[in-house]
Amino acid sequence: MPDYVLKATAGNGQIRVFAATTQGLAETARRLHQTSPVVTQALGRLLTAGSLMGSMMKNADELITLKIAGDGPLSGLLVTADAKGNVKGYPYVNDLHDTMESPLPVSEAIGGGALNIMKDIGLKEPYVGYSPLISGELAEDLTYYYAQSEQIPTSVSLGVLLNNDGTVRQAGGFIIQLMPDTDDEVIDALEAALADTPSLTKLLDEGKSLEAIMEDLFRNLSLKVNKTEITRFSCDCSRQRITKALTSIGKEDLIDMISDQEDIEINCDFCKEKYLFSTADLESILTRIEENEG
Ligand SMILES: [Zn+2]
Repeated sequence: MPDYVLKATAGNGQIRVFAATTQGLAETARRLHQTSPVVTQALGRLLTAGSLMGSMMKNADELITLKIAGDGPLSGLLVTADAKGNVKGYPYVNDLHDTMESPLPVSEAIGGGALNIMKDIGLKEPYVGYSPLISGELAEDLTYYYAQSEQIPTSVSLGVLLNNDGTVRQAGGFIIQLMPDTDDEVIDALEAALADTPSLTKLLDEGKSLEAIMEDLFRNLSLKVNKTEITRFSCDCSRQRITKALTSIGKEDLIDMISDQEDIEINCDFCKEKYLFSTADLESILTRIEENEG
């Protein structure tokens, strides 16, 4: 079954619920980036957050970028998602030489630092939110971000469960938000529900569907599923885009590259797709820049 996001409300519309199952997304990222176990977990969690937060956007052409910058050995992660379920991302370091036998906690790999969220909502300037990392485990950091930056009481869960060979067995997460002025009894019921729910990935691994897990979680709060949407790892890079990037690096650097008389290979950061540019290709880019300078 493909990965998907489930959108629902509960507690008479006072609770917004977004839940996702993302094994394919996290495993595709692991395969593309050849990540070691702790990096697979960190990237899978942030990609899941991207799926969820992409699906929360109101307009089809919006984009959201989540950037983690840490002082740990992983250094950082970047994830971009659109409102149509397309998510892509990469780690700054793909292999921390950790193993399944001696796992490194995600918080240790990331360390202290900051979470940046950029929302491109079609205005000239993107919305930029920022909060410090409070745990480095990512779910808590996002919960804190929502409280600090957007003043929305939110519960975030993100999880990636690995097989013994380091491939992704299960991945998923949820974002649950309270609307302003939610009744106290709804808040209490939600807190009680969240307190005794085991991890989402564990429940998925027992063969339960996302719907069944969420219905069980909200059994006292009458869950209403509004819709489900497919989500996937998808990169929109193209030769045209890479050419545009080369155009913007500046004449001096291009002239240097041309004088080397060697083909250059550029890999997309997100999906590792290779793009080859011959000296002749580079020369035609340079010609175009010079023409534009008039
Ligand atoms: Zn790409």
